[in-house]
Amino acid sequence: MPIDQKYIQAIKNGDVVAFPTETVYGLGADAWNSEAIAKVFETKGRPSDNPLIVHVSDFDQINDFAAEIPEAAQLLIEEFWPGPLTLVFKKKPEVLDAVTAGLDTIAIRMPANEIALSLILETNPLVAPSANRSGAPSPTKASHIKADFGSSVLVIDGGSTQVGLESTVLDISGEQPMILRPGVIGKDQIEQVLNQTVLIDDKSSEKPKSPGQKYSHYKPKADVKWLDSEDEFEDTSSLFLLLNAETEQQNIINYTQDFEKLARELYDRFRQADLDGYKKVIIEPFDDRYDSSVIPALLNRIEKATSL
Ligand code: AMP
Ligand code: MG
Repeated sequence: MPIDQKYIQAIKNGDVVAFPTETVYGLGADAWNSEAIAKVFETKGRPSDNPLIVHVSDFDQINDFAAEIPEAAQLLIEEFWPGPLTLVFKKKPEVLDAVTAGLDTIAIRMPANEIALSLILETNPLVAPSANRSGAPSPTKASHIKADFGSSVLVIDGGSTQVGLESTVLDISGEQPMILRPGVIGKDQIEQVLNQTVLIDDKSSEKPKSPGQKYSHYKPKADVKWLDSEDEFEDTSSLFLLLNAETEQQNIINYTQDFEKLARELYDRFRQADLDGYKKVIIEPFDDRYDSSVIPALLNRIEKATSL
């Protein structure tokens, strides 16, 4: 897919450019340019101890960043790349410290989006954290980026993103693979490919292995909470996201147990709730009794949005 030269030049000049991926929009910068990377942290207001994911368009580029590619990684790459799975490798010494926030590992993925792949092909591997101000819901549409940054950030508009939640982050640098952040590619799918048990990072630990997981995230200004009782439906200042709605009301969105759709729309609903002046977003509780691989990721994002 041809990319307008102005975006390519901007990246080459060390500027940031927001672009679509299949998960959410990323704020892209050249992974080998430390000034460009500093702009990413500054633009987002991102804490400097929160490392970035490098996005590649070519399998060979992994070797520029990763010290070794374990066999497990090869199997997962064959199965899931390009796609919403980030792999954490031991890093090469040349990788810029600003990218990894001083860690000895590097997170890499290949996005499944033609615009993203073409932009990387024309430039370099790109760091691309979600293109929102730190703490706000990740952008799933170009208009979300305009809302956070005005016209100060160049945006390549690729419409709405397909997945709507950030990638699964899987650490394969240690003895046993460990999910650091749940995403649409679930534990079961990974275990099936590896024929091995996959651990899940203990979120209650003081020092999560994925530093980003300790920050408040994904929050609109409205309070996000789980639904306690149907009596709450009388509250017209709340937006309800329900799985099995029996009543029709303007402020009730019925997802009829379509969790992929809820994942795709969640951040847009959060942002739109603020624009529409709702005070709360109230979500019908669910758990992994339902058969959808996106549920752990949805629960993770909603739990974060409900916490203070
Ligand atoms: P974002 O790009 O905004 O979705 O955030 C990237 C996520 O990947 C954050 O939660 C980071 O903590 C995580 N991450 C990036 N690099 C590493 C790494 N080397 N080790 C562990 N987690 C990482
Ligand atoms: Mg983010």
